[in-house]
Amino acid sequence: MARHTKAVCKLCRREGEKLFLKGRKCDTAKCSISRRPTPPGEHPYRRGRRSEYGMQLREKQKVKRFYGIQEKQFRRYFELAEKQKGNTGENLLILFERRLDNAVYLLRFGLSRPHGRQLVTHGHVRVNGRKCDIPSRLLKQGDKIELKGDKTKKAVKEGFGTTRGRDIPGWLSLDEESLEGLVAQLPTRDDVSITTEEQLIVEFSSK
Ligand code: SF4
Repeated sequence: MARHTKAVCKLCRREGEKLFLKGRKCDTAKCSISRRPTPPGEHPYRRGRRSEYGMQLREKQKVKRFYGIQEKQFRRYFELAEKQKGNTGENLLILFERRLDNAVYLLRFGLSRPHGRQLVTHGHVRVNGRKCDIPSRLLKQGDKIELKGDKTKKAVKEGFGTTRGRDIPGWLSLDEESLEGLVAQLPTRDDVSITTEEQLIVEFSSK
């Protein structure tokens, strides 16, 4: 599947906020958005005031980039969110939160969401005792997430030095000794860390 392989910091600058795509660098003074908080391009402010359509589009792009989701996949999530009971925007965000690569990041196994995705696709993660290399897998309550291999566990434990400052959300729990994560309950809208107006995404996607 096509992934964004160019400078990811430009994505944060385009959206005007930190999307935490780079791991360690994101929490340092070297973060590009701290050093240069303008949109990328030669004439960053030439485009003028954003239309309603533009605001809706930016909101959707921001959330997609935050979770590392491609357009086709996004459409599928949206259809699923629409079919579920309740608020479509909230359902959509909760579906993104439940992705395996997101949980691997939130459990502090990954330095960033792209790193969490890499751990999954490279086969370093087990769900309920079985290898799972599908980053989009939707987790259920009671699922156990573990790392495979002593080398990976050692590297992740070393990485805890930099990730310890990140709080693990209440819907997940972690045994730091055995590196076993558990989906204690399904996430709610309050567990979504990105600041977003999901209604704008729904308006854009319902057109
Ligand atoms: Fe975004 Fe991280 Fe780059 Fe900062 S360092 S601009 S948060 S990806």
